[in-house]
Amino acid sequence: MSWTDLARNGRILVVDDALENIQILHHALREEHEVLFALDGEQALQIASEQQPDLILLDAVMPGMDGFEVVAALRASPRLQDIPVIFVTALSQPEDETRALEAGAVDFISKPFNVAVVRARVRSQLTIKRQADAMRELSMSDGLTGVANRRNFNDTVDAEWRRCARAGLPLSLIMIDIDHFKLYNDHYGHQAGDACLQVIAAAMKGCATRPQDLLARYGGEEFILLLPQEGPDGTEVIANRIQDEVRKLGLPHAASPTASQVTLSMGLATAMPPLEGSEPSPLIRIADANLYRAKQSGRNRYCISLGA
Ligand code: GH3
Ligand code: MG
Ligand code: MG
Repeated sequence: MSWTDLARNGRILVVDDALENIQILHHALREEHEVLFALDGEQALQIASEQQPDLILLDAVMPGMDGFEVVAALRASPRLQDIPVIFVTALSQPEDETRALEAGAVDFISKPFNVAVVRARVRSQLTIKRQADAMRELSMSDGLTGVANRRNFNDTVDAEWRRCARAGLPLSLIMIDIDHFKLYNDHYGHQAGDACLQVIAAAMKGCATRPQDLLARYGGEEFILLLPQEGPDGTEVIANRIQDEVRKLGLPHAASPTASQVTLSMGLATAMPPLEGSEPSPLIRIADANLYRAKQSGRNRYCISLGA
């Protein structure tokens, strides 16, 4: 994506109680962006949450919930807190500007505004937002396979553990390790090993596709699959699906004492509600112990137990 693309085709939410201002901003921005609008703070929050705009242009002074309260509500919401807000307002004192920036706005435009200036500031904030999104995406994914990295997994499993605990739901994990991968590298070379990791990660990713499922590279040739809301039976279904998909890939492994193809061993673990304790590390240890049992008992299989 080029530099100018980053600044275009955004989804902009314009919030103003005066229809006339909305019309002017809509007119100014509609050629480059998709423009949504709201006439008050409550409506703005609702649309923001439903439509996830890239940027919000927000009037400070509105009847009911004012712009400062809207920013505070956005910042308090994990799903909305990263949406940048530009204040567009008739308030023009330096202390108004300071207050807006302190509340969490990224920029401040005084009314009456110049349309070209609004356009330029929107572009520059969109560019910053998209660069930040790209950085966040990179910092959360594994460079070789493109699946989540371990840090992403750690953050997500903690949050999902709390969510499932509150909601009285189970949570499951599958720890996955490629069998005899050192021998694979020794036989086919490290580059072929890298390609093998990529293909296997992609195949596994297709085996658990609900929005809350997360496949992560846990280390070297070890992966972990987080399955919130999943009980032991569903987890076993997914483990079988992974075995099937990897078997279907049919990646030759001439050096493996276990099979003529690349195989996996897995350790499954499910915590049933009510989830005990404040964090998931005991469950991770159980999945790891079950993976160890799968290795010890001949590889190319999974072991399961309830616990944590
Ligand atoms: P086991 O069946 O007991 O799991 O045996 P193994 O050989 O798979 O396990 P071991 O832990 O002894 O070796 C893991 C190997 O994975 C060694 C390491 O070189 C390889 N590996 C780890 N990360 C990468 C990677 O990013 N690319 C490649 N090509 N190899 C990797
Ligand atoms: Mg291994
Ligand atoms: Mg290993």
